[in-house]
Amino acid sequence: MPSASIRKGDRVRMISGKDLGAEGRVLAVLPKRGKVIVEGVNSVTRHEKVRPNRRGGQEGGIQHKEAAVDVSNVALICPNDGATRVAHRVDDSGARVRVCVKCGTEL
Ligand SMILES: [Zn+2]
Repeated sequence: MPSASIRKGDRVRMISGKDLGAEGRVLAVLPKRGKVIVEGVNSVTRHEKVRPNRRGGQEGGIQHKEAAVDVSNVALICPNDGATRVAHRVDDSGARVRVCVKCGTEL
């Protein structure tokens, strides 16, 4: 499952879609929908009604919020190769680790 390869906090690059080439940190993974939310990617602008808050300031106005993107549109970034696909390997202690398919670096 590709969605299992991407985790919250990963640095990823967009490999297709309108944000092609954009990079960011994964803020959330939505496995049931096969989507992830990436910081600064697929940002949507919402206009909200401006309203006063309790601190005497105001909230609302124009809000930027990242919309979910398909997990198939993102790739993990390898320090050697850039955007890459991920393979899994079992390390010496028996733990399953993610490695770059190109150079074998643990990701
Ligand atoms: Zn690599």
